[in-house]
Amino acid sequence: TMKDTGETKEQQLTVALRIRPLNDAEQEEAATIVAHRVDDQMVVLLDPMEDHDDILRANRSREKTYVFDVGFDYSATQEEVYRATTKGLIEGLISGYNATVFAYGPTGCGKTYTMLGTDKEPGIYVRTLNDLFRAIEETSDDMLYSVSMSYLEIYNEMIRDLLNPSSGFLDLREDSKGEIQVAGITEVSTINAQEIMELLMKGNKQRTQEPTAANQTSSRSHAVLQVDVRQQSRCRDVLQEVRFARLFMIDLAGSERAAQTQNRGQRDKNGAKYVNYRDSKLTRLLKDSLGGNSRTVMIAHISPASSAFEESRNTLTYADRAK
Ligand code: ADP
Ligand code: MG
Repeated sequence: TMKDTGETKEQQLTVALRIRPLNDAEQEEAATIVAHRVDDQMVVLLDPMEDHDDILRANRSREKTYVFDVGFDYSATQEEVYRATTKGLIEGLISGYNATVFAYGPTGCGKTYTMLGTDKEPGIYVRTLNDLFRAIEETSDDMLYSVSMSYLEIYNEMIRDLLNPSSGFLDLREDSKGEIQVAGITEVSTINAQEIMELLMKGNKQRTQEPTAANQTSSRSHAVLQVDVRQQSRCRDVLQEVRFARLFMIDLAGSERAAQTQNRGQRDKNGAKYVNYRDSKLTRLLKDSLGGNSRTVMIAHISPASSAFEESRNTLTYADRAK
C-alpha cells in the first residue's frame, strides 16, 4: 500500500560515500591522500599524476568533484554513518516498506567495517537491529510482531546458508504470495539483537574467502543478512497478517576488477567474472526490494590513498551513476 501523497515523500534511494583512514601499508609506502571530503555532500578526487606533470598541474580538470546524499571521511563515527544512512529506514519497515542497505567498494576499503564493525565500534547491522527492536517494543501494544532472520552467502552465483552450511547450495523460489524465498534456508525467530549478532559471527566463519594478490582476504562473495518483519493487529478477533516488510543488509563482494588484482588462481578458471550487484542471483533475491515500494541505501567505500586512485575513481564513477 502506498502512502498518502500528502505526506512528505521519503527519498527512495540514498547514495553515501565513505572514505576510510589511510591504513598502515599506505602510510608505509608514503601514499598521499587524494580523496577528500569537501563538505557534507561533496567529495573531491585529485589525480596524483598532476604533481609530476607541469602541463597537467595547470589543468584543474584533473581534480574531480562528486556529490552524494552524504559523504564521510576518516573523522566520521560509526554512529554518524548509521544515523545519516540507515536509521531512517526503520520507520518505513514498521510501516511495511521493504528496505535494503548495501556496502559497495573494493576489497579493503571498509565495507565490513561499516556493516559489521568491531566490538568497540559496532556497525550498521547491530545498530539497525537494536533500533528496530526498540521500535517494535514501542508499538507492541497494538501490534503483534514476529521477526525472523536468515544469513546467506552468494558466491559464484550459488547460494549458501551461512547458518547451516551443510545444507549445500540453495535455490530461489517464488512462494504463493509471489515473494521470493530461498528454499530451505534457516530462519531464526528472534527479537534479540545480541542473538542475531552471535549468529552473524558464527556465520561469518563459514564464508568463502579466496586470497588474492590485492589483499590477503579478498572476499568474492556477497554476505546477505535478511530480516523479515511480520505484523498482526491485536485489535482483530481473528489474528491475520496485516503487514510484511523485509530488510536486506548486504556486504557486497569486492568491486575491484579481476584484471587489477593480478589474480592467477581459482578465479581465472571461473572466467574472471566481475561480480557486482547486478548478478542474477542477487538481483532475483532483491526483486521485491529494489525500486517500487521500497527504500535503498548504498554506501560506497574508497581508500583516500594516491595508490588507490584508479580504484577510487572507478568506485566514485559507479556510485555517481547509481544516483
Ligand atoms: P572490506 O570489507 O571492504 O574488504 P574492511 O572493512 O575489512 O574492508 O576494512 C579493511 C581494514 O580497514 C580493516 O582492518 C578495517 O578495520 C579498517 N577500516 C576500514 N574502514 C575503517 C574506518 N572507517 N575506520 C577505521 N578503520 C577502518
Ligand atoms: Mg569485507
